[in-house]
Amino acid sequence: MVDSCIFCKIAKKEAGAAILYQDDQVTAFRDTHPVAPTHILIIPNKHIESLNELLDDDKTLIGHMFIIARQIAAQEEIHEGGYRLIVNTGPDGGQTVFHLHLHLIGGPRMRHPLG
Ligand code: 5GP
Ligand code: ZN
Repeated sequence: MVDSCIFCKIAKKEAGAAILYQDDQVTAFRDTHPVAPTHILIIPNKHIESLNELLDDDKTLIGHMFIIARQIAAQEEIHEGGYRLIVNTGPDGGQTVFHLHLHLIGGPRMRHPLG
């Protein structure tokens, strides 16, 4: 937990969010500024600043984030039409919140080239 981190607060339910799924490893919630009809963020509950800070020990956690993304895509009924999973890394990668997150973006075909 990093005190100033909004995503740590969401995972601990100390800040509000439309949470769709949570277990002991990950939390999934709707993005407040969606770029498509479905825009969900999947985060590890523990604070990892970005992909750059990922450890070998985090392999299972990262795999789990993808499994949950697949599950939520099915729940949201975007799995057949298709969707994107995006991880922005660092300022040049467009990362604005420095707690690792997977964007799950889908719905009717998007114009945004990178979501
Ligand atoms: P990034 O640009 O870091 O890859 O994406 C950060 C995402 O988090 C953005 O899409 C932004 O709209 C979303 N976001 C930022 N602050 C909050 C918040 O407090 N709550 C929720 N639900 N989403 C947030
Ligand atoms: Zn955090």
